[in-house]
Amino acid sequence: MQEETRLIHAGAGSQDLVRTVGPPIQKGSTVLLPCAAALYDDDNYLTYGRGGLAAHEALKDALAEMEGAAGVRLYPSGLAAVTGALLALLQAGDDVLVADNVYKPTRRFCDNVLKRYGVGVRYFDPRLPPQAVLDQAVPATRLIVMESPGSLTFEMQDLAAVAALAKGRGVLTLTDNTWGAGYLFKPLEHGVDISVQALTKYVGGHSDVFMGSAAARDPALVQKLDDGVLNLGWAVSAEDAYQMLRGLRTLPARLKLQGEAALRIAAWLAEQPEVAEVIHPALPGAPDHELWKRDYSGACGLFGFVLRPGSMAAVDAFLDALRVFGLGFSWGGFESLAIGSDPQLGKRSFVPTYAGPLMRLHIGLEAEADLIADLRQALDVYAERAG
Ligand SMILES: *Cc1c(COP(=O)(O)O)cnc(C)c1O
Repeated sequence: MQEETRLIHAGAGSQDLVRTVGPPIQKGSTVLLPCAAALYDDDNYLTYGRGGLAAHEALKDALAEMEGAAGVRLYPSGLAAVTGALLALLQAGDDVLVADNVYKPTRRFCDNVLKRYGVGVRYFDPRLPPQAVLDQAVPATRLIVMESPGSLTFEMQDLAAVAALAKGRGVLTLTDNTWGAGYLFKPLEHGVDISVQALTKYVGGHSDVFMGSAAARDPALVQKLDDGVLNLGWAVSAEDAYQMLRGLRTLPARLKLQGEAALRIAAWLAEQPEVAEVIHPALPGAPDHELWKRDYSGACGLFGFVLRPGSMAAVDAFLDALRVFGLGFSWGGFESLAIGSDPQLGKRSFVPTYAGPLMRLHIGLEAEADLIADLRQALDVYAERAG
């Protein structure tokens, strides 16, 4: 054979690799089939790489184990998991009830895309009790979309109660469980039909990979999610799938450290004179504390707090004074982050009111004393500017 041909077949890789603790990062669009009969035998052979190879399969299996799911599908981002699941489940003429505290880009998709394709979208106050949510359902209502706790205002839903009532009405339920990370709370065990999360946050854990997952127990729903991914043509890279699986190994350890530190910092903040209120469902006395205690095995590192009244300039001065906390929108990584939340609430149908500016913190793995000292000196700056 000529050299061009030999180079095509050279270095094809061993069939029986040595075993490592992680899966091989198998990359491939082309999948080589053993014989002609296998070319069109989709039942027995994986014939194309878009749906994922070794690392993807390993990650999907591990996530299914954590979620208690019959099947998990991967998406190129957390937002794509939300939009992919919605597109897989809905059709023109359907009606969807959406909790008003959902992630803002989820809302943008509902308003800009679902409505354009003839799906009715109605928002409900996340403080409504379960029966009142179901009272809003009409015969066309197909799905209820929730996020509990919401990632800015942290209202929780009694997901088990909503799911049970929805089942009785033939309505599906979906929750964005990014705060619970698939570990602190298991939506499928509480009767929710579809559990979605941005793996980008805690499962990845290092703020450097995008991915999302959707999990279901009912095989018919898993098939629908599968068809949805196939119809839209989404793929995730083998390196990213490998990195997500690596993150998953340390998820419980990181969540424990970050969640416990966050709760102590939240309790400390509640004692500071510049702070009007701390919004964290795991704090005793919080509005959703009993629900959190019933359903969650722990808390993550993300919570909100309200400053005593002060101008936007004073809020910016507080944020600019922070040295250990970074300013950034994401969360779930090893690093502590802070933002002001008020500018994100404007599009809501039921805007909650607070005694002052609403802030959000994500607690990372830094030493707690350094984080507290950083917050204290920034609160001094705030006190000076807010007067
Ligand atoms: C970040 C986030 C998403 C989207 O995840 P991406 O990977 O950034 O697309 C979805 N839901 C919630 C609650 C999030 O915080």
